[in-house]
Amino acid sequence: MAAMIALILSLLIAYMPVHASAITGVRLQGDELVVDFDAPVEGASVFGLQGPDRVAIDVDGINHASFAERDSALGYVRGGQFDEDTARIVVDLHQPVTLSDFRFADDGRSLILALARTSATDFARKLVANRQSLLAPAMARRVAEPGGYSVSMKLAPPRTSRNLPTIYGRDDPRLPLVVIDAGHGGHDPGAVSPHGGKLEKDVTLAIAKAVRDKLVASGQARVALTRDTDSFIVLQNRYAIARKLGADLFISIHADSAENQAASGATVYTLSEVASDREAQRLASRENKADIINGINLGAAGDDLSSILIDLTQRETMNISADFAELLAREAKSNMRVKANPHRFASLMVLKAPDTPSVLFETGYLTNEDDVAFLSSSAGQRRVAQGISSAVQVHFAKKIALR
Ligand code: ZN
Repeated sequence: MAAMIALILSLLIAYMPVHASAITGVRLQGDELVVDFDAPVEGASVFGLQGPDRVAIDVDGINHASFAERDSALGYVRGGQFDEDTARIVVDLHQPVTLSDFRFADDGRSLILALARTSATDFARKLVANRQSLLAPAMARRVAEPGGYSVSMKLAPPRTSRNLPTIYGRDDPRLPLVVIDAGHGGHDPGAVSPHGGKLEKDVTLAIAKAVRDKLVASGQARVALTRDTDSFIVLQNRYAIARKLGADLFISIHADSAENQAASGATVYTLSEVASDREAQRLASRENKADIINGINLGAAGDDLSSILIDLTQRETMNISADFAELLAREAKSNMRVKANPHRFASLMVLKAPDTPSVLFETGYLTNEDDVAFLSSSAGQRRVAQGISSAVQVHFAKKIALR
């Protein structure tokens, strides 16, 4: 028995996640740029800058980044701390490049980037216009089996950082953690109501807080908000917060707008590369635009890369998300106005966390007079919160029953 426990403990320790905090080297391996870390890394983002042409690689969670600067066929490689929690590697390019491929080493300690020469136009279109996020399978380590199948192993939540939001609710790690994301914020107001000028960013924040209060009061979940002030967060950082906290569920709160002011009621969206209808597609392009400021896309991964990111882990996550969406639509119905066929699919950037079940809840239309009155009243906000809270409780009760 004691030996069994010792074995289990040693296995647990072997799988305890340790995350990179230092870059130990940057090297050139043929045409590939290899960044080495002291431990497995969660991910990085890559983007281009012009005048002169540069490629920058940002890695979060790194507080030590000293490596030898060097010249290479690609360009001059240099870097250091960008801020106290982010390292930046910069390549002063001899010629414009594009990111043709990337991968993480099997031990997770190296990020390998294939940078291929390209035209200035291609460089501008692919790397300057898009910040591409490269996510390592941080929470699910896949182990190949002889039959060619893969299994996913859920690991403990990643290291927390001082930049992460407060977790509300009973301090019990067994309680599921739900991250509520108030859409938009700061210089991005979202939709503006033609009836009294209410801003989506204010309505979503008030609803997010009502949801937090309701869930905390239920005692059935812990809750964190991606923002609790009027601040701007790029879309990929919204789900990055949920991933870093090891959230069990991510709910992004929004309010819709339409040309037709008669359009009303709530809709629940889950991720799909293929939109369920034209309206869902228009919604995705509207919501994904939150990251485009002054013509620079701050958050979105390029189309090619975002497809690569939808791997096996994400398929499973997408199924759980879809189940929760059905539940949310059902529970919302007894509390508020919900559209017919309320569960839709769209390629929404904020839902792209590969390992956190995520939904985007369009709570109603700011262009509809009744909806805006309901959504901006505290009574209405409490009803929305009630619907979400019931769905969350049923969702986790079901999961526990299935264990
Ligand atoms: Zn929105």
